[in-house]
Amino acid sequence: MDDRLPSPDAMQSFWMPFTPNRAFKSGRHKLLVEADGMFYKSHDGREILDATSGLWCSNAGHNRPKITAAIQKQAATMDFAPTFNIAHPLAFEFTHKLSGILPYDLKKIFLTNSGSEAADTALKIALAYHRMRGQGAKTRLIGRERAYHGTGFGGISVGGLVKNRMSFGTLLTGVDHLPHTHLPENVFTKGEPEHGADLADALERIVALHDASTIAAVIVEPVAGSTGVLIPPKGYLKRLRELCDKHDILLIFDEVITGFGRLGAAFGADYFGVRPDLLCMAKGITNATVPMGAVAVSNRIYDTFMQASDTPIELFHGYTYSGHPLACAAGIATLETYEDEGLFARAADMAPYWQDAVHSLRDARHVIDIRNLGLVAGIELQPREGAATARALEVFDRCFDDGLLIRVTGDIIAMSPPLIVEKPQIDRMIETIRYALAVTE
Ligand code: PMP
Repeated sequence: MDDRLPSPDAMQSFWMPFTPNRAFKSGRHKLLVEADGMFYKSHDGREILDATSGLWCSNAGHNRPKITAAIQKQAATMDFAPTFNIAHPLAFEFTHKLSGILPYDLKKIFLTNSGSEAADTALKIALAYHRMRGQGAKTRLIGRERAYHGTGFGGISVGGLVKNRMSFGTLLTGVDHLPHTHLPENVFTKGEPEHGADLADALERIVALHDASTIAAVIVEPVAGSTGVLIPPKGYLKRLRELCDKHDILLIFDEVITGFGRLGAAFGADYFGVRPDLLCMAKGITNATVPMGAVAVSNRIYDTFMQASDTPIELFHGYTYSGHPLACAAGIATLETYEDEGLFARAADMAPYWQDAVHSLRDARHVIDIRNLGLVAGIELQPREGAATARALEVFDRCFDDGLLIRVTGDIIAMSPPLIVEKPQIDRMIETIRYALAVTE
C-alpha cells in the first residue's frame, strides 16, 4: 500500500535539512501523511505513536480541531497583512495573551518565524540595548558548548555544535563559550543533577579575561535539548543569573524547547525560578501548526529603546512575516488549548510516571546514561567503536518499523511526547525502545 509515496523522480528536488539525503532517497523511505492526537500515520498506512511531539513542537498533540478551525477561519478572512507601519488586531491580541503567561517582567514581545530567528533577534536586541544606553563597547556574546540556538549566523556562533559551525567560515567574532553541563558523576540522575553548579563560574574567568565592559549577553537553553537533553545542575542557572547581575550582562534563555509546558511549567524560567532578561520561543507557540517564533524582553529593555532612541524607528529589525495573521490565529487558539486543558499542570502531574518509566531502561542493552525533566528525556547509548553509523540511528529505524517515532542525536535518543500523553502510551514507548535496543548490535 505504497500509494502515497511520491515517484522516485519527484523525490529528487527537496534538499532535506539535517538529513543524509543520499541514503534517504535511495533507501527505504519514511514518510508521514496524517496526524491526530498522539499519532501519525505513515505513507504505508501504519499508526506511529509520537514520542517527540513532531520535533519537540506539537505540545498539545496533533491536529487539534480548535487550532485547525482558527487557522482555516483566518485564512478565509485575511490571508496576510504587514506589520511594518500598519498592522492587524490579531498581532496585538496574540502578544497580549502570550504576555499573560510569560513570567517576571518579560512582557514585550518581538515576533519572528522560527527559533533560529528568535535566537538571532535576541542577540541583536541585546547588542542594540547596550548601545542605546551608552554602553556600546558591550558587544561580546557568550554561548555554551553543546548548545543549539538554530542555524542563523548568530545562533551557530554562540552554539556549540562543531558540525553546525565548521563549514561556515569565521562566524561572529567576539564570541566565547561556557563549558557544557554534562558531568560523568551525574549519570543516571533522576531530574536535576547534584553536581556542577560551579560550572557557571566559568563566566567569571571570561569576565576576568575580557572585562565586563565588553560583554553584552550570555545565552543558554535552560535544558539543552537538541544536543542530547542536558539538565542543568541544581543551582547552576541561579548562579549564572547572579554573575550576570554582578557584571551587568544580559541573560538570554532560549526556551524554544523548554517553553509551553515541556517541563511542567509554562517556561523553564518558571520551573527553575530564574529570571532571564530575554526569552526566545518558537515550536509550541502555535503548537507547530504555522511557523512562528518570538522573543520576550523585559519591560526595562523595551522602555530603554522607547526612551533613548533618537530615530523614529527604535529597532531596525523585523521580518515580512513578523506576526503573520495565520500564525497569530493559531497562537491564540493554541494558548487557549493549553489553558482549557490545563496541559502544563498535566505535564507536571505526569512527570514522575515518565521519570520512572524512562529510568526503567537503565538495565537495557547499550544504555550508559538516562536524563529527564518534566516530559523530556535523553537516553545515551554506548557508541560503537569506529563505526560510521550511530547505534541510535538503527534504534530509530527499528522503532519506526514498530510504530514509534523517537528522535536521535548522535548516540542519544531524545524523547518529548505531547503533553496529552497517557500512561499506557508511555509504557508502549518504553517497551518498544527496550526491544529495539535488545535486537540492535
Ligand atoms: N533554539 C533551540 C533551543 C532549539 O531547540 C531550536 C530547534 N530545535 C532552535 C533554536 C531553532 O529553531 P528553528 O528550527 O525553528 O529555527
